[in-house]
Amino acid sequence: MNNDNAENNNDKKRLSLLVPMYNESSVIPVFFETVLNVLKEVTYELEIVCVNDGSTDNTLALLKSYAEKDARIKVISFSRNFGKEPAMTAALDYATGDAIIPIDADLQDPPELILEMLEKWEEGFSVVFARRSSRESDGLVKRNTALWFYSLFNKMSDTYIPSNVGDYRLMDRRVVDVIKRLPEKDRFMKGLFCWPGFKSTTVEFERPERAEGETKFNMWKLWNFAISGIASFSTMPIRAGIYVGLMISVASFVYAMFIVTKTLFMGVDVPGYASIMVAVLFLGGIQMFFLGLLGEYIGRIYKEVKNRPLYVVEETIGLG
Ligand code: UDP
Ligand code: MG
Repeated sequence: MNNDNAENNNDKKRLSLLVPMYNESSVIPVFFETVLNVLKEVTYELEIVCVNDGSTDNTLALLKSYAEKDARIKVISFSRNFGKEPAMTAALDYATGDAIIPIDADLQDPPELILEMLEKWEEGFSVVFARRSSRESDGLVKRNTALWFYSLFNKMSDTYIPSNVGDYRLMDRRVVDVIKRLPEKDRFMKGLFCWPGFKSTTVEFERPERAEGETKFNMWKLWNFAISGIASFSTMPIRAGIYVGLMISVASFVYAMFIVTKTLFMGVDVPGYASIMVAVLFLGGIQMFFLGLLGEYIGRIYKEVKNRPLYVVEETIGLG
């Protein structure tokens, strides 16, 4: 079914790996060695599109030296650090493969799995997810918050994202072409990757520890990432304002009736300071909360309206 996609000079199907890299000079050698070794027998025409996301170490220099020696290695270098999501977007924009696989540079996405994914792709699946059968390497807090996030996300959004699936997956050219048509500036890739749908399947793996270096994401970054993900794919949080407001109105109406009745039968009594304070503070809190939520969405609209480019490329190597 994918044969018609391979329209290159030699009739081989093309495989693109997309690798975002931010200060990864310590893993680059072992990454290329492992990946090229795993893929040395495949019959596909391989390209590895590496994005240097404004690294401050010698990632770029290293990538250049590899790209010079091996034409399959291609480099997009950003003018500064734009983040993993823009880096993957750039790689998607440049990649030419019939099958496309985003993969982390730190070998936490085991390259051996690529072979399994390709098999499934040949069987006719357009998307092959790599699901972590365990997240032992992630620590208790990260694991549980991730679990909690996925279930919340799926309750709130129409786009279903399978849990324990990262960005590591195989996507057919048709899926990638749909993703490239999604114009939004706030790019929650996990969601965008799932938005097109198509026939999908899963392969399982154990997520290993990072090969070298350390994670580029701290809890604060992840928390903001989660908010951004939900706000990009669901308007339920602002809609919740309607229900919370309604509930408070009904409750205060009942309370008002109670006060009126009480006053009619028992006269006026002055105390009531505590209940007034509670009501004022409670309502103030709720109002601030929903104002913040509104701000989140308005900020998003603002970002889209400004229509700034997602990333700035300073140079490319090996790409047209
Ligand atoms: N990354 C990036 N830009 C950033 C942060 C991370 O391109 O601003 C890349 C990083 O180089 C790696 C991938 O995203 O290839 C995943 O990052 P990391 O391994 O630090 O995340 P974790 O596995 O801890 O979630
Ligand atoms: Mg990692």
